[in-house]
Amino acid sequence: MVQEQIRDRGIRCPRVLDAMLRVPRHEFVPEDLIDGAYADQPLPIGEGQTISQPFMVGAMTEALELEGEERVLEVGTGSGYQAALLALLAREVHSVESIAGLATAAQERLARLGCSNVHVHTGDGTLGWAEAAPYDAIVVTAAAPRIPPPLVEQLAEGGRLVIPVGPATEQELLLVRKNCGQTTSEALHYCRFVPLLGRHGWQSPHS
Ligand code: SAM
Repeated sequence: MVQEQIRDRGIRCPRVLDAMLRVPRHEFVPEDLIDGAYADQPLPIGEGQTISQPFMVGAMTEALELEGEERVLEVGTGSGYQAALLALLAREVHSVESIAGLATAAQERLARLGCSNVHVHTGDGTLGWAEAAPYDAIVVTAAAPRIPPPLVEQLAEGGRLVIPVGPATEQELLLVRKNCGQTTSEALHYCRFVPLLGRHGWQSPHS
């Protein structure tokens, strides 16, 4: 997976590649889908949600430019797979999931795999997670109609926010940087994610 889907498609950060080699993706997919755990596609994880395609996880993680000492916020814990990668790449990870059953399952899985620096919270991640802000990096793993203002507020000076923005059919993966209180934004890839539902997200799956 890492050679063909990640490195050969342009993800070059050695720390990200090493983390993707170390995290056992098959631990994060339902048992009946284990045969496809390393395939080039997202997979269902229950509750109508997905674990993202490996390449997209690699691209989003690389864009965060993590060096090891950061405090990171993930919005959309899902299976916990990306949180497990972030746990290897940063000092502290807070991950918010709106579906309580997924949050509980991910928390248990991450604890079993020894990811002791990940804190999973249940809630509306479009509000960020103010208790642990500011964050050096924020990654949103669901598609937003626009950038939620609380996430920009909770981003530290010099921080990076990676977020898919756009309509349900297709989004652009944006890398937002905050410098001197101002943000600049760069489009990285086209992508397709499940909707970010919440106060600063979509109001319903079809709105
Ligand atoms: N990062 C996950 C992984 O590694 O398995 C994949 C996440 S999945 C593509 C998107 C997740 O975002 C879903 O689990 C969904 O329930 C969650 N989500 C949607 N809206 C949310 C919100 N407002 N706050 C937190 N999580 C949300």
